[in-house]
Amino acid sequence: MNYFSLNKKAPDTSFKDAVIKGLAPDKGLYFPEHIEPLSKIFFETIGNLSNSEIAFQTIKQFVSPDIPEADLKAIIEDSLCFDFPVIELDKSISTLELFHGPTMAFKDVGARFMARCLGYFNTNNTNEITVLVATSGDTGGAVANGFLNVKGVNVVILYPSGKVSDIQEKQLTTLGQNIIALEVDGVFDDCQDMVKRAFLDEELTNKMQLTSANSINVARWLPQMFYFMFAYKQLHKKHDKIVFSIPSGNFGNICAGMMAQQLGLPIQHFVASNNANNVVTEYLKTETYTPKPSVQTISNAMDVGNPSNFIRIQEIYKNDFSVLKKNLTSYSYTDEETRTALKDIYKTYNYIADPHGAVGYLGCKSYLKHHSDTHCVFLETAHPTKFLDVVENVIDTSLTLPSQIKAIMNKKKVATKISSYTDLKTCLLK
Ligand SMILES: *Cc1c(COP(=O)(O)O)cnc(C)c1O
Repeated sequence: MNYFSLNKKAPDTSFKDAVIKGLAPDKGLYFPEHIEPLSKIFFETIGNLSNSEIAFQTIKQFVSPDIPEADLKAIIEDSLCFDFPVIELDKSISTLELFHGPTMAFKDVGARFMARCLGYFNTNNTNEITVLVATSGDTGGAVANGFLNVKGVNVVILYPSGKVSDIQEKQLTTLGQNIIALEVDGVFDDCQDMVKRAFLDEELTNKMQLTSANSINVARWLPQMFYFMFAYKQLHKKHDKIVFSIPSGNFGNICAGMMAQQLGLPIQHFVASNNANNVVTEYLKTETYTPKPSVQTISNAMDVGNPSNFIRIQEIYKNDFSVLKKNLTSYSYTDEETRTALKDIYKTYNYIADPHGAVGYLGCKSYLKHHSDTHCVFLETAHPTKFLDVVENVIDTSLTLPSQIKAIMNKKKVATKISSYTDLKTCLLK
């Protein structure tokens, strides 16, 4: 598969180059040149296929011929070593739990897949690659864990000081080895700006091969298609109009769902569920896209003021606003509404959601009011214990820590504080 830059001012490139570069030389996001729908039989028989087989069929065309089939199968097997259960809460609402991986956020799959692709491409390469990534919370942990000990790859993670949860901070600052954590005096957007600036800085890029592990990287973005396939596999016999409500920040996950739809997956509709960072909600109302500085919320992994994948969504729907509106609805909720939803889910279903999942749940509720004939699946993108303070406080119950979390709580944080781009550059050139 060839990829083109959405800025249209860079040459087309292979999967391998798109993964290594992250962003095209003209700073555009890469997008596959062609999408070949999967066969009808695939969707009819999906119930009989293993998750690995489904994933292989889903992603094969996007990776070939750069990774041979046997190697791709091994990468998939290794990236998907946990469950993706759908829990039906009632006849119209389910949740797809994406938090059973090592860092208990959905980003584990994309991070593991990308790490293994880079590791594969780097097998016979003596030059080291530096993965530079900004995190609003969960990306850092998933990337740190996914890339730990991958040969020839160093990882530098920037996170906003005091703006990620304790557990999230532990997950990205305690691994050591090839993982370096930088604690930035600022907000997530400052971290992201520094990362963007580094990619444009020739003094750096002449000296080192920099790549990103944010969802702008195709190897992190595309494996997220799997989730929608796995949900369909579990639900298609019972429900025929399936709607997904996706708690969205950079819009990578939802955009992967739309790619799965392009492959032929019968998805009735998408709901982008947002916290107070409501650029897309406003866009769908006004047809005017106005990025804003992000505001801090209790669903911090979605505190994004200018979602980087939105441009891919526009490409998928050919920049046609009316087609986009037919497929996508977006709602925005306050922290107060999110807290009430957490309580509501607990009281009504005896289910403990995390703040991101709760925003997704609210999206289902709003959508179902006018589309009661559909079945809405909200994505549970993180385990509730990752947001312990908020969740315990709201539902007034103590949570049991899963083993993945217990294991890191007593480890020592190691992070370097930085407050400017110059600091970042000094760290990178060390
Ligand atoms: C990253 C993240 C999101 C947002 O996903 P995008 O792909 O950036 O839209 C939502 N919830 C959690 C828990 C996350 O970590």
